[in-house]
Amino acid sequence: MSTSFAPLDVAVVGGGISGLTCAFHLKQAGKEVAVFEAQDAPGGCIRSIRAHECIADGGPQSFTLTPELERLIREAGVEGSVLAPPACGLRPYVFVRGRLIAVPSDPAEMLTTPLLSAHGKLRALADLVLPRRSAGGEETVAAFVRRRAGEEILERVVTPYVGGIFAGDPEALSVEAAFPRLVELERKHGSIIRGALGSRWRRQKPARAGPSVEKEGGGHPGMGRRTPTVAFRGGNDLLPRALATRLGPAIRLGAKVRALWQRGEWMEAAVEASQGRERQRIVARHIVIATPAAQTAALVESLEPAAAEALRGIPSPPVVQVALAYPREAPGVPLDGFGFLAARTEGVRILGCVWNSAMFADRSPADRVLLTAFLGGALDPAIMDDDDDEIVRTAHRDLMRVLKIRDVAPVVVGGFRWQEAIPQSTRGHAARLATIERCLRGLPQVRLCGNYLGNPSVAACVERAAALAATLVQ
Ligand SMILES: Cc1cc2nc3c(=O)[nH]c(=O)nc-3n(C[C@H](O)[C@H](O)[C@H](O)COP(=O)(O)OP(=O)(O)OC[C@H]3O[C@@H](n4cnc5c(N)ncnc54)[C@H](O)[C@@H]3O)c2cc1C
Repeated sequence: MSTSFAPLDVAVVGGGISGLTCAFHLKQAGKEVAVFEAQDAPGGCIRSIRAHECIADGGPQSFTLTPELERLIREAGVEGSVLAPPACGLRPYVFVRGRLIAVPSDPAEMLTTPLLSAHGKLRALADLVLPRRSAGGEETVAAFVRRRAGEEILERVVTPYVGGIFAGDPEALSVEAAFPRLVELERKHGSIIRGALGSRWRRQKPARAGPSVEKEGGGHPGMGRRTPTVAFRGGNDLLPRALATRLGPAIRLGAKVRALWQRGEWMEAAVEASQGRERQRIVARHIVIATPAAQTAALVESLEPAAAEALRGIPSPPVVQVALAYPREAPGVPLDGFGFLAARTEGVRILGCVWNSAMFADRSPADRVLLTAFLGGALDPAIMDDDDDEIVRTAHRDLMRVLKIRDVAPVVVGGFRWQEAIPQSTRGHAARLATIERCLRGLPQVRLCGNYLGNPSVAACVERAAALAATLVQ
């Protein structure tokens, strides 16, 4: 083994959005930094496939544009490639009772929506009068929703949402960890509806418009404050690729970190380069581990076994995404929204589907629509046993039924298999994070930065990575 690097200020393990963001800010601050990424491309679970004149995004389909993400986009020099969907492009539907029903966007729609029966609506309104929870241990999302709003909301809204967005199981997720705002609304206002209406009213009060955003198809798409959901022209991997370009030789692709050691005030890492190149030993003042929970556990095992055990307790069920293109006239329902989530009672296997070309016109040529179906998650991990052809058949069969697609074969643009897709904040999550934090307190040279540490969205990963970089610059 040879040491071929001068000692670094910071070695970052993992070149997903968390590691890239952290390294980018450190480099900008003048630190000697290097990123070691096991794969041959940067971006982690942000991938794009360009095929058949379409663009299929793996991992996130769109991003919430927080101020920190907006800053990163600007500093990475890709603000000119930001796309905002048309207003209708954000509307989610639920497939329930054999049809697509738009999710109500305000309380008035809630009263008239066919999504819930009259009994279901009355039960949901009971939230206004039910007492606060006074005691008891950590509650699951399902128990919380059942208690406040009833079984129907759980079955027709929350379970499809949790399955489609977080690949999760509401019976296992902790409401405190996964949806802290709901717990806060109950604690503060005694009712979710009253609390949500109050904050909505407070938000609307200033009524000052931010800079306008050109919508997809409306000229020059740009960034602004009215539409917080965006994607990138040409594919979402544009952002990680831009960050990698700016990192230049400071990013090493095909470089897997195998082990870490503490050497006094310094850290050492063994890096195995792909393609038969020799192993390297690197020395750094700090190591930022920006890998998923399971890989992080393997890396900290010899340093802090209790932290590794807590990390191994964070499940990340698998997800499969398959992007299919159909002739534009094939769907028998209007694709005027974000896509749909499927209730588990409907006998379809897909968790949901994003209507990519309805949100971002560059995802397919004008005569086709591009749809990305999601399968698997905590409730259906066995999806990984199916081969690619079976998965395409399943997705096509379900899409034919939900979107009333006439019998036409799709063009398979691409597929993505994520063995450990999205970390789950199951019961005990906060305690596990506290254990990890406590165990690593005595090892300040090692810092963790990953999607299991809180909200897994790209925007939240960027925020945590920027905050971590700031502490390492001081
Ligand atoms: C299917 C799916 C859909 C999603 N949808 C959305 C969405 O719509 N909106 C949204 O905001 N977010 C979404 N997310 C979540 C978000 O994309 C992720 O949480 C985020 O991108 C994770 O970034 P990361 O850098 O923390 O981890 P990762 O992207 O997992 O990156 C970790 C990197 O570490 C590397 N690595 C691992 N071990 C080693 C090692 N020993 N040595 C070197 N490198 C190593 C891996 O190769 C990988 O590249 C989605 C995620 C998935 C999987």
